[in-house]
Amino acid sequence: MSSNGNAKHVKVLVLGSGPTGYSAALYAARAELKPVVLTGMQLGGQAALTYTIENYPGFPDGVGGAQLGELFQKQAEHFGAVTEFDMANGVDLSQRPFKVTTDSGEYLADSLIVGTGASPNHLDIPGEVELTGRGEVVVVGGGDSALEEGLFITRYASSVTIIHRREEFRASPILQHRAKEHPKMDFILNTVVTGVIGTDKLEALRLKNVKTGEETIYETDGLFIFIGHTPNTEMFKGQLEMSDLGYIKVNDRMETNIPGVFAAGEAADPHFRQVVTSAGMGAAAAIQATRFLEAESE
Ligand code: NAP
Repeated sequence: MSSNGNAKHVKVLVLGSGPTGYSAALYAARAELKPVVLTGMQLGGQAALTYTIENYPGFPDGVGGAQLGELFQKQAEHFGAVTEFDMANGVDLSQRPFKVTTDSGEYLADSLIVGTGASPNHLDIPGEVELTGRGEVVVVGGGDSALEEGLFITRYASSVTIIHRREEFRASPILQHRAKEHPKMDFILNTVVTGVIGTDKLEALRLKNVKTGEETIYETDGLFIFIGHTPNTEMFKGQLEMSDLGYIKVNDRMETNIPGVFAAGEAADPHFRQVVTSAGMGAAAAIQATRFLEAESE
């Protein structure tokens, strides 16, 4: 890392510290490129917030999300990756080195790997809250997150009701089976939450059956919302090509429309969005970044 004025000049700058970012950093570090990882808001990314990850290969009994994140970080740092607890908030990709502005300064990067992941969506309803209730709680959503977190919450709550807007679940069959067989779990289907009732404390939800149009009030002590994610790609708009939903467009080598800028993981992946696929994409991006820098120095 060298300084140009106040800006730090690096060969490989990795944005994000989740499975994508640290896998990229591991590969770039082993290529002796001394990558710098800007952690973003959440060290370890979304995966680090998951209680147990059961489908990352190599851990037959599952592994804690935070623990896996620490292992990723440790392994990358072991080979020379540097972690900076900093957040990128602006990029100028119009010329190289690319300029990245952060909360604490500026970086100049010969290559950039975007692994900024995605952030949870919120329900756009009046009075939306998320409360950690111990009594009867509601979980909104029908994907892996809703069912997995719902199952986890049964440890603390007396009952967990999943409210889902359709009849079919998007979640994987194993989670659907576990949820349907769990004695503390119930389901309200074809239903959306339209409002929250309660002043200091959540008391009830307004529900609407999307098939019949019937509106009801449902008393509950807690509301947890798992309705998907939006990629964290806002700062690249107008510079990197992306889909209408904000996923950065990459080819099968993780290359974006700008040579030297690579994207991987959930910022660029609307299809798989798994820890293992994000890690794989991160590694691929770093391999390609290494080739890109090598080709330039030849
Ligand atoms: P997701 O798969 O996108 O599912 C979001 C769910 O929320 C869907 O059921 C969707 O309904 C519902 N939804 C979306 N907008 C809504 C709205 N405005 N009102 C009500 N419901 C709404 O998101 P996710 O569950 O967070 O999972 C994200 C990715 O992470 C997936 O690829 C998933 O496989 C992965 N993941 C994996 C695991 C695991 O393997 N154990 C755990 C967590 C997450 P529709 O079905 O009707 O669209």
